Amino acid sequence: MAQVRLLPGIYRDAQEWNRGYLQRLDAGRLLYNFRRNAGLPAGPAQPLGGWESPADGAHGTELRGHFTGHFLSASALLFASTGDAAAKDKAGEMVAELARCQDKLGDGYLSAFPTTLFDRLDSGRNLPWAPFYTVHKIMAGLLDMYQFAGNRQALAVAQGMAGWADRWSAAKTEDHMQEILNVEFGGIGETLYSLAAATGNDQWAKAADRFTKKRFVNPLASRRDELRGLHVNTHIPQAIAAARRYEISGDLRFHDVADFFWWDVTTARTYVTGGTSNGESWQTRPRQLGAELKRGVNTAECCCAYNMLKLTRHLYAWNPDPRYFDYYERAMLNHRLGTIRPEKGYSQYYLSLTPGAYKTFGSEDRSFWCCTGTGVEEYAKLVDSIYWRDEQGVYVNQFIASELNWSEKGLKLRQETRFPEEQGTSLVVTAVKPVPMALRLRIPSWLESSPTVKVNGKPIEASASPGSYLTIARTWKTGDRVAMALPMRLSIEAMPDEPQTQAVLYGPLVLAGDLGGDALTEQATIGQMGPRVNRSALEIPAIHAPAADPASWLKPAAKPLTFRTTGQPKDLDLAPLNSLFDKRYVVYWQVA
Ligand SMILES: [Zn+2]
Repeated sequence: MAQVRLLPGIYRDAQEWNRGYLQRLDAGRLLYNFRRNAGLPAGPAQPLGGWESPADGAHGTELRGHFTGHFLSASALLFASTGDAAAKDKAGEMVAELARCQDKLGDGYLSAFPTTLFDRLDSGRNLPWAPFYTVHKIMAGLLDMYQFAGNRQALAVAQGMAGWADRWSAAKTEDHMQEILNVEFGGIGETLYSLAAATGNDQWAKAADRFTKKRFVNPLASRRDELRGLHVNTHIPQAIAAARRYEISGDLRFHDVADFFWWDVTTARTYVTGGTSNGESWQTRPRQLGAELKRGVNTAECCCAYNMLKLTRHLYAWNPDPRYFDYYERAMLNHRLGTIRPEKGYSQYYLSLTPGAYKTFGSEDRSFWCCTGTGVEEYAKLVDSIYWRDEQGVYVNQFIASELNWSEKGLKLRQETRFPEEQGTSLVVTAVKPVPMALRLRIPSWLESSPTVKVNGKPIEASASPGSYLTIARTWKTGDRVAMALPMRLSIEAMPDEPQTQAVLYGPLVLAGDLGGDALTEQATIGQMGPRVNRSALEIPAIHAPAADPASWLKPAAKPLTFRTTGQPKDLDLAPLNSLFDKRYVVYWQVA
C-alpha cells in the first residue's frame, strides 16, 4: 500500500470524502466510553450516538467501542496509502489513551463495556449483543496500527487483549465454547492468527483455534453449502480466519473451507452488484437468488462486500487467477464506489436491490453501524489491490488512475485512465535503468474478445482471451507506454431461478433505471439503514424485449455510460448504479 498512490479520479474522490469524515471525528468522543468504562475522566467530550451510545441506553449500545477499533484501522490504512501523518498521529494518541484504560482495568482487558457482558455470554442467559465481535474490532485496529503505522505500543496493547481472550477461552470446555460461538464473534480468529504470525508466538494461534465454529466449518471442508439461515457477516470473517489458519499452518482442510466458501458465495449467493445477504442472512437454498430477493428489502449489507473482498485477496495470493478480479472489480465498482455519500463521506448499510429502492446513508455522529466501520476502512485502502507482484514482474488487476513506485526495482508505473468513463487505460514507465520484467495485464471477462494493446504506439501481436492475463515480457525503459482498449458492451445477467428477472450491465457496470427522486428528503436518506419501499405504490415498468440482446431495447443516451429504453410504453433513463444518488431505481427488471 505504501508504494501505490491514487491519482485524481473517482477512486481518489472516495478516498478524500472518507478522509474528511475521519478528520472531522473527535478523538475525545471516540475515547469517551473507554475512559468511562475504565473509571477515568472523559473530559469535556460529548458521547457519540447510534451504536456508540454510552451505557444505560438502548440495546444497540452493547457494541460500543467497535467503531473506535475501525477508526484505528482506517487511520493506519490511510497513513499507509496516502502518507497522512496527521491521521497516524491522532490515532497514535488514541492508542496511548487506550493503553492507559487497559492499565487501569488490569488483566489485559480493554473494552468500552464491562466484563459483565462476557459473564452473560458465558452463562448463556440474557445473551449480550456481540462482545467478542466488538473486542475483535479493537484488537484489529491496534494490530493495524502496528503493521501499517509502526506503533509498537499498539502491538503491546493488542497482546494484552489477546492474553485476556486466551485465558477466558481456555477456561471453557470445548463443547461450551462451541455454544458461545453461536453469538456473533466476527474475525477474532483472524486477528489472533495474524498476531501469532506478527510475533512468532504460537500461543495466539492456539487461542484462535478455539474460535473455530465446527457447525460452520465442517460442511464447508466437505464442500457442502449449509449456509441457509446463517447470519452472513458473522460468518464471512470466519472464512477469512480459516484462510489465515491455512496460511500459517499449511492445514489444507482450512484452505478448502475458505476456497469452497468463496466459490459458493460468489457463484450461488451473489447479486449482480457483487453483494450478498438479505436481511443480514442467507434465507434460501443456493442458486435461488430471485426467491431470496423477494424475501426482503434489505439486501446486500455493505460489510459483507468488504469482507468478501478481503477473502478474495487471500485466495488470489494463493492462486493468481485473474477471474478473482472479475468478482473484485464488479463488487468494487458497483457495491463499494457507489455506497459512499459524495462530499460527506457517509457510507451505506444495505444496498437494496428491490425495485423502487433508493440509497440510504449513515449520519455524522449518530449511526456508527458495523458498515460505517468497514466503510471507513474500505475507502482508506483503495490502493491495496490494483497491482500485485511476483519474482517475474507486476500484475495490473484494476483500472484505476494511480502510480506504483516499485522502489526495489527502480521502477515507476503510472496508470493514466478515467476508466470506466474512458474505455481503456494506459501505463507509463519510469525506470532508473532499463528493467527486464513481465507486465501482466488483466483481460477482464466482460470483454467480447482480445483487446488491442499497443506498446509505444504500435499494436502488439500477442493476444489473450478474456478472463486471462496478457503478459508483455521485455526490458522496460523510461517513457515506455502501454495502452489497452477496454471496449464495453451491454449484457444481461438473469436470476438463476427466474430467467425473466434480469439486470443489465455495461462492461462491468451495473445499470439502474432512474425512477426519479421527488419525495426523497434528507430525512428519508440520512441516518437510515435501508430504504422504505412500498411496492404497490410504485410503478415499475416491465420490459418488452424484441430480442435477447439488451441493445434491442436500450440506446445510448447523451452522457457517457447512460442509456434510454426504446419501444416501451413508458421509456426510462439508465445510468450506472454507482452514480445514482437521491433517486429511486430499478436494477432487476422483469423482461418479457
Ligand atoms: Zn455492516
